Amino acid sequence: MKHLPAPVVKILKDKLIRLRDDASNEACIAESRGLQFLDTKDRETLDRVERAEAWREAEIDKVEIALDHATARAADVALQRIADGSYGVCQDCGRAIAWVRLLALPTALRCAACQQAYERSHGQQ
Ligand SMILES: [Zn+2]
Repeated sequence: MKHLPAPVVKILKDKLIRLRDDASNEACIAESRGLQFLDTKDRETLDRVERAEAWREAEIDKVEIALDHATARAADVALQRIADGSYGVCQDCGRAIAWVRLLALPTALRCAACQQAYERSHGQQ
């Protein structure tokens, strides 16, 4: 983390805290929306189209909740790495991750080259 100037670390830490808190709040909102739906709508009174729509919305909520939790966890991991001094070091090659990359993606675990190699080998774009 030595390559990161203190003011940059401060900016990154603030971004990560905001990211973690926003993602946690979004997950809570989506979770309570799902519970509210169960409370307020009697499934017996819904027609087939309404049930299908409700099911679709519930599935989208589940995906959003999972993504929000994953984002909050990634931000938490990054904050722990700041605390233990390992933040900003590529987990694959051990080199410093450029801080412009970290400013754009504060939860990055790999340098750009290793991330590209990882995505190629794992079939992502
Ligand atoms: Zn690397």
